[in-house]
Amino acid sequence: MTEQRRSKKKPSFAAPLALLLVLSLALTGFFGVRLSRAKADLAALDARAAELEAALSAGDTRLENLAAENETLKAELAASEANAADLQARLDAKTLTGLDPDHPSYMDKYPDFYAPQPLRADNAPENTVYLTFDDGPSINTDAILATLAEQNVKATFFVVTMDGYSKERLKAIADAGHTVAMHSKTHSYRTIYASVEGFLDDMYAVFCDIRDVTGITPTLFRFPGGSINSYDHLTYQEIMAEMLRRGFVPFDWNVSSGDATAATVDKDVIVNNVLALSASRAIVLMHDGYTKTTTAEALPEIIAGLKARGYTFDALRPDSKPVLFQYIDTVRQNP
Ligand SMILES: [Zn+2]
Repeated sequence: MTEQRRSKKKPSFAAPLALLLVLSLALTGFFGVRLSRAKADLAALDARAAELEAALSAGDTRLENLAAENETLKAELAASEANAADLQARLDAKTLTGLDPDHPSYMDKYPDFYAPQPLRADNAPENTVYLTFDDGPSINTDAILATLAEQNVKATFFVVTMDGYSKERLKAIADAGHTVAMHSKTHSYRTIYASVEGFLDDMYAVFCDIRDVTGITPTLFRFPGGSINSYDHLTYQEIMAEMLRRGFVPFDWNVSSGDATAATVDKDVIVNNVLALSASRAIVLMHDGYTKTTTAEALPEIIAGLKARGYTFDALRPDSKPVLFQYIDTVRQNP
């Protein structure tokens, strides 16, 4: 009976156990698949994270590179600015030392060598004769001054103040009311026209002599040999530009007395040369040199003859209409 019961009870556990076993196997299988899928997903995520991290790091590197590049450019800009400042400083320094072609160093020479009142006006009355005497004072100055005083004529003296010149005669010219103008200190063409500096050295010396002796600061000047001569073709333009810049007024002539064609020219030749003039405004070249005795002798006849023809006389002034040789024409004539 008991065995029967026992044997009767045994199969009642078998079915649930089997079911449990099957169930557990199914669950294990199910979760196993899920787990492996999750693992794969996780690996993919890890890979993606690594990718993103790498991209981020690359971005950082690029940003660093750009920052470095920016610094380089800033440094280059600063260097360029420094270089520009250095060039400007060197340019300024050149200007100060006179290497600038617009400001040669001779412009800084003799800062008191400027015309007192530079003027430019068209003062050109008709039928006027301007007698001009170069190279004085000399032993002939007294006779010339006497004639001019007698005839009540004012004239212009382009003076030379070589060593030993007569200061008394120079003062007498100024005191008589004639225009005292610069001609030369040395009258040495080779030295005067060798350079702008050479010309300034010579002209400043006569400028100082006139100023010291007469108290007058001269404005007018005449180039030794005339503005265009055989010695100044290389320096003429620069000398002229510099003298004009300083306010001085140059005068050549349009009538020559011919008294320089020889040491002493016959008096009648001089008279006839001057009386042959036809210009209504005549600037007459004559000389007050030591050998020019016949010029002084010719003067009374010259003045009388021109007065008889209706001419009046005047001294040149800064505002007198200029008479200058034509540079281009003269160069073509004397290559
Ligand atoms: Zn002369």
